[in-house]
Amino acid sequence: MKTVRLLLGDQLNPLHPWFDRVDPEVLYVLMEIRQETDYVLHHAQKILAIFAGMRALAEHLRSAGHQVRYIPIDAPNNRQNLTENLDALLTETQAGCFEWQAPDEYRLDAQLDAWFAGSGFDGGKTSSMHFLANRFEARNMFAGKKQWRMENFYRHMRRKHGVLLEPEGSPAGGQWNFDAENRKPWRGQPPEPLDRRPLHDHTLLWQTICDAGVPSFGSHSAAAFRWPLNRSEALDMLKTFIDEALPHFGDYQDAMSTNAARLFHSLLSFALNVKMLHPQEVIAAAETAWRSGAAPLAAVEGFIRQILGWREYIRGVYWAHMPGYENSNALEHTLPLPEWFWTGKTDMRCLQESIGNSLEHAHAHHIQRLMVIGNFALLAGLDPQALHRWYLGIYIDAFEWVELPNTLGMSQFADGGLLASKPYAASAAYMHRMSDYCRGCRYKRNRRTGPDACPYNALYWDFHLRHADRLSRNPRIGMVYRNLAAMDASEIENIRRHAADLRAHLDVL
Ligand code: FAD
Repeated sequence: MKTVRLLLGDQLNPLHPWFDRVDPEVLYVLMEIRQETDYVLHHAQKILAIFAGMRALAEHLRSAGHQVRYIPIDAPNNRQNLTENLDALLTETQAGCFEWQAPDEYRLDAQLDAWFAGSGFDGGKTSSMHFLANRFEARNMFAGKKQWRMENFYRHMRRKHGVLLEPEGSPAGGQWNFDAENRKPWRGQPPEPLDRRPLHDHTLLWQTICDAGVPSFGSHSAAAFRWPLNRSEALDMLKTFIDEALPHFGDYQDAMSTNAARLFHSLLSFALNVKMLHPQEVIAAAETAWRSGAAPLAAVEGFIRQILGWREYIRGVYWAHMPGYENSNALEHTLPLPEWFWTGKTDMRCLQESIGNSLEHAHAHHIQRLMVIGNFALLAGLDPQALHRWYLGIYIDAFEWVELPNTLGMSQFADGGLLASKPYAASAAYMHRMSDYCRGCRYKRNRRTGPDACPYNALYWDFHLRHADRLSRNPRIGMVYRNLAAMDASEIENIRRHAADLRAHLDVL
């Protein structure tokens, strides 16, 4: 063997140019290691989905004639550490050359760079060929700017990649962004599409993971596990989404309901982040649906904005600010996460649903992550680093490059407003407008204080009071401070007292 090539658990793209040619002198290595299962406590489905996807890719490569070494989690010679396993393998095979695809996470990138620099091997790092912007495209574009507006980056990407443009280069439909049309609540119609995602019984793999002592949380039941194993299943999911959900994606993008956890979202984030799908093909499929009249422009633009805009921009924020970004805590929040983050057992129905879904399915859609769970954490003042570890562990699609800026930047304003022009903070009125969660909740959405008042209300006002020094001059939230100025001093005192009481007893809400 002359060359060893590493494939990480989120590098499951069978179309990478590496595989264009079968070369008996090349050995591909994939490894299941405790280093990767244990850096935070992970949801059971995330461990299962990644291991199952890696095993499926290894089989696919073998059947195509490639040489593959697969190191399962329970192999006696598995050192459970990436570079220690590489040391052993390169010694055993006497390979002189090592190649790897650029990792998306700083942690792994730094580990492999340092190891390779001291190894004396030939070879080096190559592109994963996955993203549409390079690591530093956003940094270069925003050089010297205090705030990094996603919208500017998104327009640049639309132009650069020729997406949703009229022939002369103007945006399709005469505007770049149809977000204002995408904020409808869902009242039961149109019906949520059937869940046609694949079913897999991973009982044996689960037993192996448990026997190896890998810690985890969340549901591992076969019925709850609906994640694709390979590119072919991911392509089926993409087609079903385009045919059945995309036409309504825009309208109900921000809606939430106890009767429909998925609504019209794609659930493609796992397949995208482990690179079973390429963002370009997902974007092209959505644009084709619009051009053929199968989906309205507002829905298609809204969906494409998430992938061509948000996903690439978030990655740019990550690479521009790592290392260091992971420690941001501009609002100096320090409270520990309440116990019900791990059980879903709270009387607040919105959180019960959103955390309950996350525990059951390793997924929650964007507004549940941002406006229910993240919003609560922000208002209550939870420690953003503890919250980051929770988000990184619980979601099937969570890899640090995409999770960290979403959690610390967008959701917790912990980067001081680099990513978001104002904190995503909302009271019960928002929850009631966008969901049916408040119906049947023991807390009353109309009350600010008292034992039955929805905790979001007092926490919302108290959050703005506590952070007035930093936030009151922000023109985008001037209305909040004008409302506070119009309140009686006694009402403000009641709010402060109630919020302090809530924050002292978060575990029992
Ligand atoms: P859809 O609603 O169908 O959107 C389509 C695609 O757009 C997604 O699959 C995703 O690839 C992309 N996308 C949408 N919003 C974002 C965004 N803000 N950032 C990056 N990509 C986006 N997404 C992750 O992939 N991994 C994470 O770890 C993650 N953590 C998050 C943490 C917080 C606090 C918040 C507020 C958001 C987070 N997101 C994360 C973004 C978003 O919530 C998920 O991408 C989305 O819910 C995945 O479900 P879906 O595939 O059905 O998305």
